[in-house]
Amino acid sequence: MKILVIVAHPDDEVLGMGGTIKKHTKNGDSVVVAYLTTGINARRSIDYTNSSSYNFSEHYLQKNKKQILELKNDAKKSSKILGVKNTLFFDFPDNEMDTIPLLKIVKTIEKIILKEKPDIVYTSHYKDLNIDHRITCNATLTACRPNSIFIKQILCFEIFSSTEWTFSYDFKPNHFVNIEKELSSKINAMGKYKNELKKFPHPRSLENIENSAKRWGSISGFNAAEAFQIIRKMQI
Ligand SMILES: [Zn+2]
Repeated sequence: MKILVIVAHPDDEVLGMGGTIKKHTKNGDSVVVAYLTTGINARRSIDYTNSSSYNFSEHYLQKNKKQILELKNDAKKSSKILGVKNTLFFDFPDNEMDTIPLLKIVKTIEKIILKEKPDIVYTSHYKDLNIDHRITCNATLTACRPNSIFIKQILCFEIFSSTEWTFSYDFKPNHFVNIEKELSSKINAMGKYKNELKKFPHPRSLENIENSAKRWGSISGFNAAEAFQIIRKMQI
C-alpha cells in the first residue's frame, strides 16, 4: 500500500502518528511524508525560544537558513528510524500559511497526490489551535476530493501542543492503532527532533508521548495506541 502523510511542520508526523508510520513500513507499505512549511520562522529567535517580536532581525535572518537546514536533517534522521521511503520539503511560511492563497497550497498538494497516487492519506486535524495544521487539513481535503485519483481512506490525527489546546476540543477519534511494538521507535524518532522537544509536563515531551500512547491504549484496549479520526473511507 502507498501511504502519504501531509503535515505543516517537521515533527507533526511523529507526534501524531510515528508509531503508525513504523507499523506501515514494517508491513511493507511505502510511506512518503510531505512537510509544507519550513517549521522554523515563527519563533523569530535563533535559540529555538519564542521571541515576542514579529519583525525579523538582521541577526536572525543570517542564522535562520542554518536552522531550517538543521530541522530538515533532523526530519530525515527521524524518518529513517520510522522506515519512511521519501521526505518532501516545501517552504510555505511557518505559522503564516494564512498569508498564502489556499489555492496555491491545494495545487501543491494536488501535484504530490498525482505523483504519489496514495491509497491512504493522513493529515492534521481541521480544528487545531495551530493555523498551519488547520490549513493543511483543509487544503488536503480539497486536493483529495473524489475525482480522478482514488484514495481509499483519509484520516486525521492529533498533534500534541496544538489539538488539545484549541477550543472547543473537536478531535473525536474513531480509529485506533496498536503501537505497543512501535512506541519505542516513535520515541526514538521524536528524540531526533532535539530542538522541538520540551521538558515534561509540556505536551511535546517524550514523557507525554508515552503517556498519551498509554491513555489511547487504555481507551481502545491496547497497551499503547495512536488515535485517528476517519474523514473518509471508500469501498468499491
Ligand atoms: Zn505543527
